[in-house]
Amino acid sequence: MARKIGENQPPNKPLISGPNIGIFNIQYNYTIFTIDPENDNIYYFIDWGDGHTQGWLGPYVSGQEIILSHVFEQNGFYEIKVKAKDENEAEGYWSRPIYVTIGNVPPDEPEISGPNSGKIGDSYEYTFITNDKNGDDIYYANIEWGEGSNTSLLGPYESGEFVTVNHIWSEKGTFTIRAKAVDVHGSESDWGEIRATMPRNHSIKSRFQTLFYFIKELLEFI
Ligand code: CA
Repeated sequence: MARKIGENQPPNKPLISGPNIGIFNIQYNYTIFTIDPENDNIYYFIDWGDGHTQGWLGPYVSGQEIILSHVFEQNGFYEIKVKAKDENEAEGYWSRPIYVTIGNVPPDEPEISGPNSGKIGDSYEYTFITNDKNGDDIYYANIEWGEGSNTSLLGPYESGEFVTVNHIWSEKGTFTIRAKAVDVHGSESDWGEIRATMPRNHSIKSRFQTLFYFIKELLEFI
């Protein structure tokens, strides 16, 4: 948004700081701050991310740090953001949010990576990674390979740690590999999944072999 020089400008995007983790029904303090280019007085509007707002608060002096308290009543993951307007009703942009986790939350769904095609009988590496917003250690409660074979309870691992598991495919087909994580408090993630097809129709090696024998036969014929 381009503004003409001399036109009243809204306050800058506010900054917000405070705890990222906590317990329900406990009061936490968050500090908000911004300045107004013309040094006008400022009103703040805070969205606590749990359905609570407090309307426009103020006026405050430009540049003054404001401390606001809030109680989250339920466990969950919240996004707090704040915007500001000046005393002349010029409204600025929302701040960058800060994220708050109250209570224990389940780990995110595991991300799985690895080859999505291969050959029966060969061993392939699959990598699993799971983040827990509380930073809890996690276990893989269950890894399903989709052909009837499962791997259960691997761990504990740190949140965000790469874990490599080898698998040998024993059947032809397209399989969904699924994994579910559980944190040290017993809270379970959703399933993370990828698909893999075994075997690849023609491996590069077998195509080269076919070509090789074809040329060999051709040469013998000549
Ligand atoms: Ca957790």
